[in-house]
Amino acid sequence: MNEKIMSARKRIAIIAHDKKKAELIKWAVDNKGILSEHILYATGTTGKLLEDALEIEVTKLLSGPLGGDQQVGSLIAQGQIDMMIFFWDPMESQAHDTDVKALLRVGAVWNIPIACDRSTADFLVTSPYMKSKYVNVLPDYGSYLNRKIN
Ligand code: PGA
Repeated sequence: MNEKIMSARKRIAIIAHDKKKAELIKWAVDNKGILSEHILYATGTTGKLLEDALEIEVTKLLSGPLGGDQQVGSLIAQGQIDMMIFFWDPMESQAHDTDVKALLRVGAVWNIPIACDRSTADFLVTSPYMKSKYVNVLPDYGSYLNRKIN
C-alpha cells in the first residue's frame, strides 16, 4: 500500500478566481487562527491579497493564468502540497480553463483534500485531522505504471 504521511502542520495551496476573491479573503480572515498554524501557498494575486488581509507569510507562485495553476499542480505531484482551497468561478469561463481542469485532475490523482466553496472549506479546516498527522492512502498506480506497451 502506498501511503504518504501529512504532518500536523499542513501545506495548503489557496487559489481564487477574480470574482471569487472577495469571498475567499472573507473566509480566510474568518479562519485566520487556523490558517496561521499551517504553511500557505497561493497563486500570485490571491497570495498578495491573503498576505495583506492576514498578515501571514504566503509563498506566492505566478498568477494563475500565467502558469501559477500549473506550478501548484506540479507541487501536488511532487508531494509538496497537502490540501487545496480553490474557489473557482462556476459562473464564468477562464482564459486558463485548461489549467484549472488539469489542477483539479492532479489533485484527484494524488488524493489531496480540495475545497471549492466556502462550506467545504469550513468542513475541511475544522476537521480533527488539521491538528494531527494524517495517513493519506494513495491510489495504487502500480498496474498503470507496469502496463504492457506493445
Ligand atoms: P491569481 O490566479 O491568484 O494570480 O489571480 C488565480 C487563478 O488561477 O485564476
